[in-house]
Amino acid sequence: MQGLMMDTPLLISSLIRHADRYHGDTEIVSRLVEGGGIHRYSYREAHNRARKLANALTALGVKMNDRVATLAWNGFRHFEAYYAAAGMGAVSHTINPRLFPEQIIYIANHAEDRYVFVDLTFVPLVEAIADKCPLVKGWIFMTDKAHMPPTKLANVLCYEELIDAHSDDFDWPEFDERTASSLCYTSGTTGNPKGVLYSHRSTIIHCYASSMPDALNISARDVILPVVPMFHVNAWGLPYCAAMVGAKLVFPGAGLDGASVFELFEKEKVTVSAGVPTVWLGLLAFMKQNNKRFSALKRTVIGGSACPPAMIRSFEKDYGVQVIHAWGMTEMSPLGTVNTFKAKHNDWDAERRLGLQNNQGRAIFGVDMKIVDDAGKDLPWDGKAFGDLLVRGPWICKEYYRAEGGNPLRKDEHGRGWFPTGDVCNIDADGYMQITDRSKDVIKSGGEWISSIDLENTAVAHPAVAEAAVVGIRHPKWDERPLLVVVKKKDAQVTREELLKFFEGKVAKWWMPDDVVFVDQLPHTATGKLLKTKLREDFKDYKLPTDTSP
Ligand code: AMP
Repeated sequence: MQGLMMDTPLLISSLIRHADRYHGDTEIVSRLVEGGGIHRYSYREAHNRARKLANALTALGVKMNDRVATLAWNGFRHFEAYYAAAGMGAVSHTINPRLFPEQIIYIANHAEDRYVFVDLTFVPLVEAIADKCPLVKGWIFMTDKAHMPPTKLANVLCYEELIDAHSDDFDWPEFDERTASSLCYTSGTTGNPKGVLYSHRSTIIHCYASSMPDALNISARDVILPVVPMFHVNAWGLPYCAAMVGAKLVFPGAGLDGASVFELFEKEKVTVSAGVPTVWLGLLAFMKQNNKRFSALKRTVIGGSACPPAMIRSFEKDYGVQVIHAWGMTEMSPLGTVNTFKAKHNDWDAERRLGLQNNQGRAIFGVDMKIVDDAGKDLPWDGKAFGDLLVRGPWICKEYYRAEGGNPLRKDEHGRGWFPTGDVCNIDADGYMQITDRSKDVIKSGGEWISSIDLENTAVAHPAVAEAAVVGIRHPKWDERPLLVVVKKKDAQVTREELLKFFEGKVAKWWMPDDVVFVDQLPHTATGKLLKTKLREDFKDYKLPTDTSP
């Protein structure tokens, strides 16, 4: 027997409609990419303009399921593009502009993007790649007529002119909630970037779950500033959550340095923020140097890589800001676990509570997780045994876009599929998870991934290099930076400088190894693979020349 309740689909358009109706005058504030000034309007105006944009995209021929991409910072037009594309049944595809141009070309072609919204910062980038993206019918510059830059590109449209030409009379269509809504590529260790294709249903359920008090804890009383970019897993879902709960939104645009972010925190009375550890390093350094205090900030969500204990301590002790340490991944929309206390921790002293906050927290309802050994056998939750972390749930990816990489799921004894996170961790009896290592060897630099394999492949292309390995070395500013370890060919000569020069133009600038070390041989596993764990151990105390800490 089936339940007899309405089957209204969970659609992204309902979020902006709700925000308009119940929080119509709540503000969305953005730092403009053009000129750095402040733009201010309301959810009601955002909704009107999203509908105009949906009409404009329809007039351009964008249809259900078509991919509409963005190369943009966090701002109000990006927000409108999210809602217009998904709301009309197309797919909002956020491209990470920090990727190497070759990867962006690959991604735009793989996704078959029809139109691309472009912030002015990225005009030179699209000018360089446009002729390799034949499927893109138009590049929509996210600005007004007065700020349109001269360009040699054909097929350029001006955002403001585009929406000015259309009415806001647009009825958001109703369709199956499992329809694709947004697309985000993740660059792993091997092969090409893979697309994670979210649905309306997964987005809305993730949004409910991540707004809860023991998750990101946001409400209509909050002012949220997502520092995490909208091209990183939809800014961890915050543009959706904010509309769901009616929180004021503050978008920092391209100004992500400590001073600019702090100014917005204070002027707009931001209560909650979110970002990767690197961003907070910059902010904390600025605060210390200038002897600043937060007047409104209550909480900050830190995730994307492990939050250093010193950072948690500084936020909490020096500034009275609660750190919400969270773990997730692109394939999980992204929220998996969040570190919040239970009632039984109330009488723990401050030090013990700080200690607990260093781990990645408990699964939020909706995420099921387990740890298994190499044979796939479940491991106990005793805080000691560690193994591969597997997850399942309604906002976790079951397959990559266009089946890239085959079926990623691992079946359990009941035939149910689990997504292998690639992280290795332990879980204690209370369900608190701690990442002890990751099976992936990617290097996390400033919240971005650097593929060690790509760098190794580049190095071994040099005629004097026999073998190369790249490992991430701890870095006070960037979290990790790549160190290149090289075995020279017999009798061949090459210097550190010559090798680094060889990388120029072959990899993105920020992917460049920070240093090169020459060794006689590299450690290998029994099957001949590089033994990265041993290398990391060998170089764990290595100090990079770019590390200026005492
Ligand atoms: P991404 O898909 O780029 O968001 O990266 C996901 C990966 O980042 C995870 O599989 C983890 O390896 C890592 N990660 C995310 N959050 C944390 C955290 N709080 N602590 C440690 N590692 C993290």
